[in-house]
Amino acid sequence: MKIWLYNTLTKKKEEFKPIDETAVRIYSCGPTVYSYAHIGNFRAYLFMDTLRRVLKYNKYNLKHVMNITDVGHLESDSDEGEDKMEKAARKENKNPYEIAKYYTDIFFRDMERLNIEKPEIIAKATDHIEEMLEFVKGLIKNGYAYETSKGIYFDISKLDKYPVLSNRKVDEQIAGARVDVDTEKKNPYDFALWIKAPENHIMKWESPWGLSYPGWHIECSAMGRKYLGDEFDIHTGGIDHIPTHHENEIAQSKGLTGKVPARFWMHVEFLQVDGGKMSKSLGNIYTLDQLQERGIEPLAYKLFCYTAHYRTKLNFTFDTALSSQKALMRLREAFIKQTQGTEKIENDKIKEYENKFLETINDDLNMPFAMGIVWEIARNEQKSKQYADLLLKFDNVLGLDLKNSQKYLDDSKNISLPEEIQSLIEKRKQAREEKNWSLSDEIRDLLNEKGYIVKDTKEGMTVERKE
Ligand code: AMP
Ligand code: ZN
Repeated sequence: MKIWLYNTLTKKKEEFKPIDETAVRIYSCGPTVYSYAHIGNFRAYLFMDTLRRVLKYNKYNLKHVMNITDVGHLESDSDEGEDKMEKAARKENKNPYEIAKYYTDIFFRDMERLNIEKPEIIAKATDHIEEMLEFVKGLIKNGYAYETSKGIYFDISKLDKYPVLSNRKVDEQIAGARVDVDTEKKNPYDFALWIKAPENHIMKWESPWGLSYPGWHIECSAMGRKYLGDEFDIHTGGIDHIPTHHENEIAQSKGLTGKVPARFWMHVEFLQVDGGKMSKSLGNIYTLDQLQERGIEPLAYKLFCYTAHYRTKLNFTFDTALSSQKALMRLREAFIKQTQGTEKIENDKIKEYENKFLETINDDLNMPFAMGIVWEIARNEQKSKQYADLLLKFDNVLGLDLKNSQKYLDDSKNISLPEEIQSLIEKRKQAREEKNWSLSDEIRDLLNEKGYIVKDTKEGMTVERKE
């Protein structure tokens, strides 16, 4: 079945076909590891995960690169302010490498909690300084770059067209109100490829221009090229990447290879909180841990993200996220009921659901619609193992870990039980493992006396408070 993806470059949905059938080559802009990733950032990685899973569901192999920015990302995307890593290091009284390691580890722990598949290749900027240097030298050789007292800059006037991705009006802005302070730049939108390091900058490398460090955009161009070649299939990021970061990546690649590096450019819209922007000053930047403290599992946040298409804004409130938490529990319960069902479903019916699901996810990853199909199956009056198997198949795309539904349901019940009861449950589990049936019965009676009903089912023991 055909796959349709929206391409920011052409501003339309296009049929997707890989350049090379053996593997779809994807590059995703990854985190800048100077702080905890927040739920907005994770909306971007959840979108990346859906794209991966949909392509794999369509039987494609993937060669997917995600970068870790651990140098060169200044406070503003357009070369103003300080390197985010250096600033965080100073604030936390650590060196930038320690900062990078600490937040990278937490980032991948959170990715796992969200059941986001790890891309095949994780590329750290500081591991690719050589490749970036070569790229910049190539740009200078091709006449696209020049040196100033601050560093090496890309000359956008040498391109046939800039911008190509966004509709940023470069000419208007040149004449407009925004005064460019760097008089050494040939054009206001020229951007830094390489930055000469101030004395106190910790991350810096030898280069023909003295001790210096790479600009942010060059890492993605150089690492993308190294692992995926001059032209690959898909490049992903957040909508904030469109006007500067991705525009400049394209400029760099055109300057070196003459090619736009990716065929499809895909961008995820922002997550908003309480109807507005997430910001430190509003105190509304939440992490997965903070959601968990309020009873929202990472996977419930994932389900919450499926309530909106990736190209539309999504508004986060604790109330709506809690509804997703409840919905996730209901989905798990509905799935378990289907696993226990014995009805025989016509093959045609199963096929029809499969086709509908495939058509929906292949229509630019329409997860809200796909979830509609999932709910229809989960809640079907007819209870059948075939439906459970179908849900498990679809879960290859959803990534909600439905196969462990019973475990999550048990855990959630146990969490709300007093410690004394939990410890009795543990003892009874052990007694049953040791086939000590009399002790098991004794504990069951004791639990009963204390107001808890114990049931032994095929999937294990359930304990519920008497109403
Ligand atoms: P950063 O670590 O700041 O480079 O950002 C990592 C990713 O998160 C980028 O792809 C951004 O586009 C994305 N991002 C940042 N804020 C949000 C948000 N509120 N909603 C969705 N994506 C976001
Ligand atoms: Zn990037």
